[in-house]
Amino acid sequence: MLASHQPLYDDLKPPVVRFAPSPTGYLHIGGARTALFNFLYARHHGGTFLLRIEDTDRARSTEAAIRAILDSLDWLGLTPDRPVLFQSSRAERHAAVAQELLAAGGAYRCYATPEELEAMREQARAEGRAPHYDRRWRDRTDWPEGKPYAVRLKAPLEGEVTVHDQVQGPVTVANAELDDFILLRSDGTPTYMLSVVVDDHDMGVTHVIRGDDHLSNTHRQLALIRALGWPEPVYAHVPMIHGPDGAKLSKRHGAVGVEAYRDAMGILPEALENYLLRLGWGHGNTELVSRAEAIALFDLAGVGRSPARFDQAKLLSVNAHYMKQADDRRLLHLVLPRIAARIGREPTEAEADLLLRSMAELKARAQDLNALADSAHYLFVPRPILMDASAAKLLDAAGRSRLARVRAEAETLGVWHREALESLAKAVAEAEGVGLGKVAGPIRAALTGTTVSPSVFGILEVLGREESLGRIDDALARGQD
Ligand code: GLU
Repeated sequence: MLASHQPLYDDLKPPVVRFAPSPTGYLHIGGARTALFNFLYARHHGGTFLLRIEDTDRARSTEAAIRAILDSLDWLGLTPDRPVLFQSSRAERHAAVAQELLAAGGAYRCYATPEELEAMREQARAEGRAPHYDRRWRDRTDWPEGKPYAVRLKAPLEGEVTVHDQVQGPVTVANAELDDFILLRSDGTPTYMLSVVVDDHDMGVTHVIRGDDHLSNTHRQLALIRALGWPEPVYAHVPMIHGPDGAKLSKRHGAVGVEAYRDAMGILPEALENYLLRLGWGHGNTELVSRAEAIALFDLAGVGRSPARFDQAKLLSVNAHYMKQADDRRLLHLVLPRIAARIGREPTEAEADLLLRSMAELKARAQDLNALADSAHYLFVPRPILMDASAAKLLDAAGRSRLARVRAEAETLGVWHREALESLAKAVAEAEGVGLGKVAGPIRAALTGTTVSPSVFGILEVLGREESLGRIDDALARGQD
């Protein structure tokens, strides 16, 4: 082993995997899926999940992006097993490895100037070749004194390198196609390629699971790993997520950051997790896979080779499933800020309590938290409530007369209970010779101002006698103007 061995941890259970995002924006859902696959792989095999923030590109990495990534991972419950490692904190170690390799002859000094490099590229372009460095300093030792130099890998010139990818299968590249890439720039800063290899090694990473946009880097990274005499990790390159049109998922397909799913779209983390898992990984036809099941079942063999297409409708249907399963109090806590934003004030405790009591019914119909907030809106509106056009239509003369009858009878009810209210409405419908819907419709219109809501009897009960009768009176009065 050429370069000094400096493990960062000495007690990691294998396999050791890592998620290594670059903090240049939000956490892309493709990245979230990569993180999830790494996490599940570690959990399934009893290993370790690490997180490394690749913030070496100081110009493009921002604090806000780091925060967004950490928040999103936290929200998804993809917590690393060790504190986050910031790649930028390790520049000295990266440089030291390059220097060791240089001293051992596995790398060399390159004094080519930017102008010379540009001329090389120009020439390669003109000749239709890949714009590779021509290795002009590979075997020279007539180093100019006091001049800065870059350190380049002395990559093998012959033979080939094969990545035995766990998802893509074997992928071979001729060494002649790889160049003597730079490890240390002439200002002494390490390149991305060097940093990744050193960090993965020092972190004890045994399996690299990442997007297949990195597959072309892997052959270079392997060349460096071999030059250093380090153990080679197992690789698994996961296909990208595509949009419904088949093109790589990008901003023009709409939301691509995890935060947008949480904030703007009101998706639950377990639903996004389940959806992302199934996007690219399968076990039979099972769509709904809890985390516990995913940990039990996940393996790289189930990861597909072709890109998966993002399907918003499917995500919403998965979310609807998890909405139904979610604890009422948790949903209350999640939906209250959305309601506050809609009504322009904080809901009162009494209102929150009303909402909690309606939750079982509301959550069964809401696909996401926004729909839940919308469907709960009627609980928070001041009297007289606004009425939409179709609700107003239900309050025609016939509707009002049935409503008036319900009101008169309801006032005499001993207990304000949904079953009692329902029997009362049924009796009115029977007496009027109409279906129950003809009675329930006007009640719903009066209570919610809309024509869609959970069971009106549940709403009557939750709103309580006074508020319900008040809203009915408003509706009846409204009909008269
Ligand atoms: N930082 C790279 C990215 O965000 C990932 C590098 C890797 O996983 O090796 O695309």
